[in-house]
Amino acid sequence: MNLKVKEIFYSLQGEGGRQGEASIFIRLSGCNLKCDFCDTDFSGGETMELSHILSAIRKFPCRWIIWTGGEPALQLTGEAIAFFKREGYLQAIESNGYFPLSGLLDYTVVSPKGKQDYAKTINPNVDEVRLPVKKGDAIPDSGRLPEAKHYFLSPVFTNDALVTKENIDYCVEQVMLMPDWRLSLQIHKLINIE
Ligand code: SF4
Repeated sequence: MNLKVKEIFYSLQGEGGRQGEASIFIRLSGCNLKCDFCDTDFSGGETMELSHILSAIRKFPCRWIIWTGGEPALQLTGEAIAFFKREGYLQAIESNGYFPLSGLLDYTVVSPKGKQDYAKTINPNVDEVRLPVKKGDAIPDSGRLPEAKHYFLSPVFTNDALVTKENIDYCVEQVMLMPDWRLSLQIHKLINIE
């Protein structure tokens, strides 16, 4: 079985409920959305057999895989997840929530992009909802979203430090108004790691 892989790298999870944990990131190619704030290149990539992906990640002293994209659920099947599970890996996914997520995954993150009620329908239970937020965005009541252990507001980081600061300040205000939410900063951008 093949997956189209944009990149594989080893770093720390920079945000959300697993922030700071070493993780192997496997970025799959392609996405079903075109968000205006997207800062990820998910075009192109290399078609790889699962066994080749396994060879590429074995060198890392870490058992956590994060499937990311693009939208990894476009490609990631239960068969692929089961393959890496048999090899002893724990697997998280970072998804926009438009597709069903396999119950074989060990940690599920949904970042709804504009259609929160749709996300609720598709994946009623996840570990984490992480909402990218720009200043002025409406923050949904967590009751409109999938059942989750954690609800995070994630200020959108831009190349303009002033705009980023405004987004952070706005999220701080919103968390204080709606304390079901917590603040998640993208520390990988703050400390300049991948
Ligand atoms: S869903 Fe994520 S990867 Fe896809 S366009 Fe939006 S921000 Fe980019």
